[in-house]
Amino acid sequence: MPTRLIFMGPPGSGKGTQAARLMDSAGLVQLSSGQVMRDEIKAGSAIGKKVAQYVESGGLVPDELITGVILAAVEKVGDRGLILDGFPRTAPQAESLAAGMTARGWKIDAVLDFQMPDEVIIERIGGRRVCSDCGATYNTEFLPPKVEGVCDACGGKVIQRKDDLPDVVRNRLETYRAQTAPLVQYYSERGLLHNIDASRHADEVQVTVRRIVDGLGAA
Ligand SMILES: [Zn+2]
Repeated sequence: MPTRLIFMGPPGSGKGTQAARLMDSAGLVQLSSGQVMRDEIKAGSAIGKKVAQYVESGGLVPDELITGVILAAVEKVGDRGLILDGFPRTAPQAESLAAGMTARGWKIDAVLDFQMPDEVIIERIGGRRVCSDCGATYNTEFLPPKVEGVCDACGGKVIQRKDDLPDVVRNRLETYRAQTAPLVQYYSERGLLHNIDASRHADEVQVTVRRIVDGLGAA
């Protein structure tokens, strides 16, 4: 049976990095919900057209429709294992996903929750800078441009995005916690949840992730 995982974690928790590393080392396919939706819209499929209608009118895409798109993507991945990223976001979505998976004889093997204190996230994201011309990314602490405020690659202006300002990040985190608390409880009650201390070095986090995934295979 292929390994099917869900990655949860607030923005800035490094779950994207861990997903990429696990894809490389374990051959899993990452299904990022945003990307899956964009691909479906771009492909102009029947379901993609429905999604596009909601997106264009600025409305929320209904849970059942999102789940349908995700399940179609899971089906395409076939027998390779996968990592769901960005979905489900709410308990009703989790229930809808579980029903669809069960109907197809599939299951989620584990949910990895990448945990990091808000203050650490705010500090990490607060250090992000980006070139307003070419999009190159920098960090004031770990990867500053050679000349402050000037892009190494193109000489463009290096700025802090509005989304990365502490108050904005704090708001995003509050929304995230409120939305995902029931989801955490849902997976915890089903014995699928693995809490991961994501504030450690990425290499250490990777070891923990790998241990959990290898343990699933042995079970
Ligand atoms: Zn640049």
